[in-house]
Amino acid sequence: MPQFNALWISKNDTGGFTRQIIKRSTEDLPKGELLIRVNYSSLNYKDALSASGHAGVTKQYPHTPGIDAAGVVERSQVKEFAEGDEVIVTGYGLGMNSAGGFAQFIRIPASWAVKRPPGLTLRQCMCLGTAGLTAALCLDKLQQAGVKPESGAVLVTGASGGVGSIAVALLAAQGYQVTAVTAKSAQEGFLKSLGARQILPRSALQEGTDKPLLKEQWAGAVDCVGGDMLFNLIKSLRYGGSVACCGLTAGVAFNATVLPFILRGVNLLGVDSVEQPLAYKSAIWQRLAGQWRLPHLDQQVREVGLTELSCEIDKILAAQQVGRVLVRLD
Ligand code: NDP
Repeated sequence: MPQFNALWISKNDTGGFTRQIIKRSTEDLPKGELLIRVNYSSLNYKDALSASGHAGVTKQYPHTPGIDAAGVVERSQVKEFAEGDEVIVTGYGLGMNSAGGFAQFIRIPASWAVKRPPGLTLRQCMCLGTAGLTAALCLDKLQQAGVKPESGAVLVTGASGGVGSIAVALLAAQGYQVTAVTAKSAQEGFLKSLGARQILPRSALQEGTDKPLLKEQWAGAVDCVGGDMLFNLIKSLRYGGSVACCGLTAGVAFNATVLPFILRGVNLLGVDSVEQPLAYKSAIWQRLAGQWRLPHLDQQVREVGLTELSCEIDKILAAQQVGRVLVRLD
């Protein structure tokens, strides 16, 4: 049985969590029809929560996080996949309560795997990863709600992060006029290079919490942060506008009234990338590889190996990451 390297999170005697790289055997992986040799994973906020013992993400330790994986089928027990097929796995149980992609092998149910779409390499798939899939789901929801480039300016919060930076790039590439909200003024150049027309400080959405409505500004928005910033954003949507809500870095709760909904007809659109039906995930990946393909994907990430991952985890927890971190496993 092949031995392989994996990031291993275990609970220590003081109740804290320790990160180390250990050798594992494929025999010890969970049951599943597909054994996959992982070439690349990527770092998402949820991985950092899993790597630091967050019970809302991972219940059982020791554990290997990594909600993303792209690699090659090593063994298959189903006819839909053959040895050598290149596949992407994001979400479902991967890296949460099943051994994840921060390892050189995973074993998963075949119902979690999407074939790599032609037009993207495995590396490019993980430059996008769950962050890219989520940003694309947000764009899809906004389009379904009728938000068009000509509807007016759109806002992206948490813009320098993984989901936010890809949302800025995707929206701008589709012709939307994007305003990026960030606490990192030093990243203005980065965000403009992705296509943002205007940059606002985070404080722009932290004021007005006591007011029932704010000036109508945005035709649409992608919100990666939640909390009162999300509701201030809802209060500044234009009549009939929509916000795709996907994140919680500013908090899970917000003070709300029904007024923006019943006076301005605005829409709060929930976005989940984890449990989407596989066929829909696959269709979104096809779009990311086709009409939504972003140029320069390879250059917009920082690539690290397993040994460098722990300090990247600390950085994302401290809200210090910029863009995406690609994890190389081979
Ligand atoms: P990142 O850490 O890369 O990005 C988050 C960004 O949020 C930061 O870069 C920062 O942007 C901003 N931020 C951080 N802390 C705060 C704060 N206290 N108040 C306001 N803004 C803050 O994470 P990801 O891009 O991986 O994930 C973003 C969010 O989306 C997370 O909450 C994650 O759990 C969620 N998510 C949800 C998914 C779904 O399926 N619904 C899938 C993937 C992610 P800046 O410095 O530019 O302001």
